[in-house]
Amino acid sequence: MQPFQEAIVKKLKETYHTEPAKANTKQLYNAVSAAALDTCWDTWQRPVTGKTACYFSAEFLLGRLIHSNLLNLGLLDETEALLHDAGISPNVFEEVEDDALGNGGLGRLAACFLDSAATQGIPLMGYGIRYRYGLFKQHFTYGCQQEEADNWLAWGDPWSVRREEEKVRVDFGGQSVWAVPYDMPIIGYGGKTVNTLRLWQAEALEPFNFQLFNAQKYHEAVQQENDAEAISAVLYPNDDTEAGKRLRLKQQYFFSSASLQSLLNAYTAQFGTDYSRFAEQYAIQLNDTHPTVSIPELLRLLMTQGHMAFEEAFAVVQQTFAYTNHTIMAEALEKWSLPLFQSVLPEVYPYVVLLQNRLSNALVQKQISDTWKYNLIQDGMVHMARMAIYATHSTNGVAKIHTEIIKHTALPEWYALYPERFNNKTNGVTQRRWLKLCNRELAAFISDRIGTGWITDFSQLAKLKPYAEDAASREQFLRIKREKKNQLADYMYRKDNFGLNTENLFDIQVKRLHEYKRQLLNAFSILDTYFGLKDGRIRDFYPTTFIFGAKAAPGYVRAKGIIKFINEVANLVNYDNAVNRVMQVIFVSNYNVSYAEKLIPAADISEQISTAGTEASGTSNMKFMMNGAVTMGTYDGANIEIVQNAGEENNYIFGARVEDLEKIKDTYHPKALYEQEPRIRRVVDTLVDGTLTDGGSGWFRELYDSLLEGASWHKPDNYYLLQDFLPYCDARLRANADYRNRDAFAKKCLLNIAAAGPFTSDRTIRQYAQEIWHL
Ligand SMILES: *Cc1c(COP(=O)(O)O)cnc(C)c1O
Repeated sequence: MQPFQEAIVKKLKETYHTEPAKANTKQLYNAVSAAALDTCWDTWQRPVTGKTACYFSAEFLLGRLIHSNLLNLGLLDETEALLHDAGISPNVFEEVEDDALGNGGLGRLAACFLDSAATQGIPLMGYGIRYRYGLFKQHFTYGCQQEEADNWLAWGDPWSVRREEEKVRVDFGGQSVWAVPYDMPIIGYGGKTVNTLRLWQAEALEPFNFQLFNAQKYHEAVQQENDAEAISAVLYPNDDTEAGKRLRLKQQYFFSSASLQSLLNAYTAQFGTDYSRFAEQYAIQLNDTHPTVSIPELLRLLMTQGHMAFEEAFAVVQQTFAYTNHTIMAEALEKWSLPLFQSVLPEVYPYVVLLQNRLSNALVQKQISDTWKYNLIQDGMVHMARMAIYATHSTNGVAKIHTEIIKHTALPEWYALYPERFNNKTNGVTQRRWLKLCNRELAAFISDRIGTGWITDFSQLAKLKPYAEDAASREQFLRIKREKKNQLADYMYRKDNFGLNTENLFDIQVKRLHEYKRQLLNAFSILDTYFGLKDGRIRDFYPTTFIFGAKAAPGYVRAKGIIKFINEVANLVNYDNAVNRVMQVIFVSNYNVSYAEKLIPAADISEQISTAGTEASGTSNMKFMMNGAVTMGTYDGANIEIVQNAGEENNYIFGARVEDLEKIKDTYHPKALYEQEPRIRRVVDTLVDGTLTDGGSGWFRELYDSLLEGASWHKPDNYYLLQDFLPYCDARLRANADYRNRDAFAKKCLLNIAAAGPFTSDRTIRQYAQEIWHL
């Protein structure tokens, strides 16, 4: 036996008095994790020297940790051999819940960044909240989303270490709580660097009440927000619009203040209470505006604990912080009402006023008169994005087009004032999880041809390009794709009791459910194909499986209506014997990181169809690309950079561009399109003509009205579904026809993989480290 295998056996014996063949999943999970943690403990505990970067984020969507940690420690093969010898399924840990302390792209980006930094030896520490319940679990009844609390700690938390001795007190107006840190090791590939993710848990100053440890109590606690535990009880399941709740502001302040206090404590221990050189030791990246209250909080701490004068403290704050913008949608730019802010954070508010006064002076000096565009405090609101731009030295967007939109359309007044602060950092994803781990077959295919250097130097992927010309390689690639479809089929049968036709083309759209991401457009286009097949308008259709996965925020009724609609389309298609040999539609339940790891490697076509100008970057587009899917997409977010690198001829770009939409936006008349084009009318009418039913909820009528009449504050068809409908249908049929030539299609896929080099988060995090944090 290998030493690590012996260590696992020992843990099982000492902790559970059992042995591998007899242990249950929970025991195995905890024993393997504990043994693995032991192997990197000393490396982890070595003090960090020099400047440290800190990633403040309300979300970390880590997924399942055990496989990636074992991979990075080089212990995965040994562990699997042990399981095999004990007669245990290699899939045993699939039962373990994901760490889902995030909603979607923003939280997953944070997780990829941590992996990339540790792998490259960059000292980057994550700071966030240890939510008792992460993103809800989703299932469907009659095609409608049902939510269930995510009790992720049911399996234990072997990758966290509670640091009781480092807890700090956080004070709100009329309430004080403990913030207790739970540290997780972030293990770089190769195990040489182990960074830390510190997640804060809120606890009462009085002894902890263990009775609260059940779901019902916690939900009550959320209602009674004055219970300390309520502060870290639940993740807000809303990744774009502001919940507008006191508790949300409390959460933000809670982890911001706790993290800053812990940094100041560490600084003080080393350098004393002269904080003038704080920014030489720490760079802090604000992942969106959620941690922006850190700005006035650090000012407060420097001026009270450090007795600094305002100007001096401001300089430290500005040098310390940098801000990443993730969305330009007006409704998602965080603001807090003044009375709310003042009542929750009475001690912090005066520092917002100091910032506002300083800004006012600057605007006078620059002779700017329309100050209402800039004011941090305006119309009874505190504007967090403005604060994040004003009091930091860097504001970055997350893809080229997104950064340009920030500069010229969303926040041009700020760009005019401080052009030097604006910069782009196109997102990336870690190829360790999103290729090496989730697609071992393709990883081996790549390594056989270009060596294993790509695992830590993704630019080497370009060396794969010549193999796109090699017939044997294309054939091998297709065999791998087939294998990944078979594996997905097994998984989906277990999870969703659905049988996939693995001979089919797999066309996949997985991401949070949002109108701007246009899952409804995808569904309309599927209906158009369905009707086209029934009418004989479409012939020679290559059999296709259309797969969706998405969670809708529980309060986002229209998004839930879209889920129900797609499930109804799936029923219509799947039970129609005239078409179900050439079409399948499935909406998988509980889409999460682990499901993504099964779905993405099996895809032939990656659906990235957001309205141009709305998706800041996207990252699933990159995951699909490196797994050899072609992009069916609009000119939006990182899709643009993806097809520029991989060749437009190897992808399918369609639809209106930002400039086109800019031109038509005041005259756009979706109802005219609906009236002129029978194919549009036919699919849109399925919402109201009885073809499909919403079970009497009225959701479908509301969707219909939102497209043709406008609903709530939006214009009709605010996301231009009808505008892009025909070009989208055309592009899909084109791709479908191309797919018939499997060999030629495989070439496109290989060229996409070979061009994926820039889309690693290793590259992104290096750019942050060099250009923003100056490490
Ligand atoms: C990558 C990822 C996302 C982000 O997907 P986009 O298509 O870029 O919005 C969301 N959820 C999960 C589980 C992911 O892995």
